[in-house]
Amino acid sequence: MGDLPGIVVTGASGRMGQMLIETVRQSDRARLAGAVERQGHDWIGQDLGTCLGTGELGVTVTDDPARAFDGAQAVLDFTAPAATVAFARTAARAGAAHVIGTTGFGDEDLVAIADAAKETAIVRAGNMSLGVNLLTMLVRKVAAALDEDYDIEVVEAHHNRKVDAPSGTALMLGEAAAGGRGVDLSEVSDRGRDGITGARRKGDIGFAVIRGGGIVGEHEVIFAGPGERITLRHVADDRALFARGALRAALWAQGREPGEYSMLDVLGL
Ligand code: NAP
Repeated sequence: MGDLPGIVVTGASGRMGQMLIETVRQSDRARLAGAVERQGHDWIGQDLGTCLGTGELGVTVTDDPARAFDGAQAVLDFTAPAATVAFARTAARAGAAHVIGTTGFGDEDLVAIADAAKETAIVRAGNMSLGVNLLTMLVRKVAAALDEDYDIEVVEAHHNRKVDAPSGTALMLGEAAAGGRGVDLSEVSDRGRDGITGARRKGDIGFAVIRGGGIVGEHEVIFAGPGERITLRHVADDRALFARGALRAALWAQGREPGEYSMLDVLGL
C-alpha cells in the first residue's frame, strides 16, 4: 500500500473534490495521501472519512498545502483560479505533479501556472473526459475541412451553481475550431450577444451558455452552412468521468519531466 503513489486532493469538500476522493479510494493503483481545504473550513483538523460520513480514513483535512504535498506524488486540484495558482507554486516546490481541472483562469494566472511548470509536471485540461478530448480532435478536423461559409457556434449547458462562463470545455472546443481554421480564437470569438447586435460576422466563432438545475455538462459544436448543418455533441452523465480522467492524468504525470501537458498528451491522442 505504502508503495502506491500518494495523491492529495484539494478542495476536498467540493463537488469534484468528493468525487476525486472516492475515485482515489476505490483505485488499486493509488492511495489517498492528503486532503486540503481552505483556512477556516469546518472540516480542518477532522478525519476526512468522518466529514464524508464514510467512517475513519486516517487522513486529516488540513489547510496547510505545503505539508500535505510534501512526499506526495501528485495533487488533484479542482478548486478556484486563485487557489490553483497558489497550489501550483506549492506543488512545484514539493516536486509533486499537479493535475489542474479548475477552469476560469485569467491570462496572469496562466503565466503563473506556466512558470510553476518549469519545475514540475502540470496537466491542465478544461475537461478530463476521453469523450470530450476526442470531440476536440473531431472539431479541429471538421473546422479545417470547411470554409467560412460554415458558421461555427459552441453551445454549452451546466448546473445552476457553475460560476464561470463559457465553460473551460467550450473554450477548448472554440480553440480547436479556431486552430482547425488557422485563426486566433481571441480575434474571432463572439460572446454574450444581446440587443441589436447586427448581422453575424463571417468567420466568427460564437458561444452560447445555458445554466440550470443539475446538468453535469453538455457541449455542442454546430457548423451551420448553406443548406446543411453538422452538429458534434458530447453529454457528460456523471462527474465520476472527470475524476477518473484526473486520476489517470496523475498516474501518467508523476515522476515525469517538468512541463505543461494536456489530456491529449495523457491519452496519447
Ligand atoms: P465546488 O463544489 O465549488 O468546489 C470547489 C472547492 O474548492 C470547494 O470545496 C472550495 O471550498 C474549494 N476551495 C476554493 N478555494 C480554496 C482554497 N483556497 N483552498 C482550498 N480549497 C479551496 O466546485 P466544483 O463543481 O467541484 O468545480 C471546481 C472546479 O472544477 C471549477 O472550476 C469547475 O469548472 C471545474 N471542473 C472541471 C472539470 C474538468 O474536467 N476539468 C470537471 C468539472 C468541474 P469552499 O466551498 O470553502 O469555497
